[in-house]
Amino acid sequence: MTTTTTDPTKTKDNMDPPFHISIIGGGIIGLNLALGLLNRNISVTIYEQAHEIKEIGAGIGISFGIQECMRELDPRIPEMLPRIAVLGPDTLQWVDASSTTEDFGLRGEGKLFDMRLPMGEGFYLCHRAELCNELVKLLPEGCLRLGKRLDGFEQGSENAKVVMSFTDGTKVEADAVIGCDGIKSRVRNLLLGDENPASKPHYAKESAYRSLISMSKASSILGSYSSVLTLWIGHGASIVTFPLSNNKYLNVAAFVQDNNKDGWPDYHKHTVQASKAEIMHAFADFNPRIRRLFEELPDEQNRWGIFDTLDYPLESYAYGCVAVAGDAAHGSTPHHGMGAGMGIEDALVLRTVLERAKQKLSADPAATSKKIALSRAFETFDSIRRERSQWLVASSRRQGQLVKWGVPEIRNKEDFVRDTQERISKLYGYDWRLMVKQSIEDYEKRTERKDR
Ligand SMILES: Cc1cc2nc3c(=O)[nH]c(=O)nc-3n(C[C@H](O)[C@H](O)[C@H](O)COP(=O)(O)OP(=O)(O)OC[C@H]3O[C@@H](n4cnc5c(N)ncnc54)[C@H](O)[C@@H]3O)c2cc1C
Repeated sequence: MTTTTTDPTKTKDNMDPPFHISIIGGGIIGLNLALGLLNRNISVTIYEQAHEIKEIGAGIGISFGIQECMRELDPRIPEMLPRIAVLGPDTLQWVDASSTTEDFGLRGEGKLFDMRLPMGEGFYLCHRAELCNELVKLLPEGCLRLGKRLDGFEQGSENAKVVMSFTDGTKVEADAVIGCDGIKSRVRNLLLGDENPASKPHYAKESAYRSLISMSKASSILGSYSSVLTLWIGHGASIVTFPLSNNKYLNVAAFVQDNNKDGWPDYHKHTVQASKAEIMHAFADFNPRIRRLFEELPDEQNRWGIFDTLDYPLESYAYGCVAVAGDAAHGSTPHHGMGAGMGIEDALVLRTVLERAKQKLSADPAATSKKIALSRAFETFDSIRRERSQWLVASSRRQGQLVKWGVPEIRNKEDFVRDTQERISKLYGYDWRLMVKQSIEDYEKRTERKDR
């Protein structure tokens, strides 16, 4: 017989918590959210399917605004960043590599780039796994449960808890569950059912090849471009290059628009085997220096299918006492490098509204039920976050097309910069303080209106 366990009943101030939150997924968002909740004495446990936090993905850029959100969640988070991160560029720089005749190695120092856009100072670059490992170190013992893969859950009626079941056969109950389980979220899938297309991410008609090339070879081909983040654009394909591991390697991510009507071969495998010949074919119309760079790649390659949630967006991020956040709610293509940042903004709103719910329940436990207080908190989260985060998904898709000269109305550098600038300023110039204020106001309105 399976017994259902309940998670810790005391917070660090040794008080009985008014509710306990379970987070599914110990990625960047689950970890930031847990630290933010603990910082306000909200009882929380993270369930992560992996047996250890290991290397997934490569570099992550964290803008100054997102570092401020992290500081709000828990001041120790941005404090540890300088230990594991390096300061990234303060400007985005593009080179049009679609000319097969120009030798951009002959460009003068001030003319290396065709388009430039400042994006603000204080941008940190770090490795995703290192960031997660440092976040884990900030958690109290017992808060992160590894090797726990969520399989299902049930939301009971009034005053019943959410009962989660894991693939190891165990069951655990919590007052509310937040799915931070990434783009292929099991929580989203369970909420909507397999038949609903929004329960899964969909192929964004683009794939990528990722490699490391030794810096000695890369710099002999690309010259000074190899020492800075460079965005190479062309017809139907684009490339991002930047130095990695103390300039030992050049990190190369080559993106190719996919016009194949059959779509991605296998939804369950986001990576398939590929070859250097395939890459050379895809970049046949690119500048000869780029083709020389790709000649350095090993013959065996992987092709990574890019999925997002644009075609079938979620209609809500809140389902009673269950919510989804981060990539689970709004997985996007990587062209803005802001997926994690968007999830950290989510975490700050969730922390804000759950803190309000806690205050209300502690002040007058008879005024409302836990279930109502928590589901209203999630309704506010949905109303504050859905529009902006789904805008990111759409804007990132557009950026992916733009860097492949694939947006029909944009044909020249001036229009490219203007179009990108508008969207970049919406991303990096976001007023997160106003977001927090609006979250509080929205939650208060919801509770006032319905409490009467
Ligand atoms: C190439 C690339 C570059 C990027 N660059 C940037 C960047 O510069 N800046 C930026 O902000 N973002 C960037 N992103 C996006 C960023 O990586 C993601 O948005 C972010 O990692 C999402 O975090 P998450 O916690 O929501 O999901 P994930 O990081 O996917 O974490 C989900 C976690 O849930 C766990 N999980 C899944 N299913 C279950 C289950 N059933 N039970 C228990 N646990 C489960 C997983 O094991 C995983 O640990 C980039 C993405 C890519 C692909």
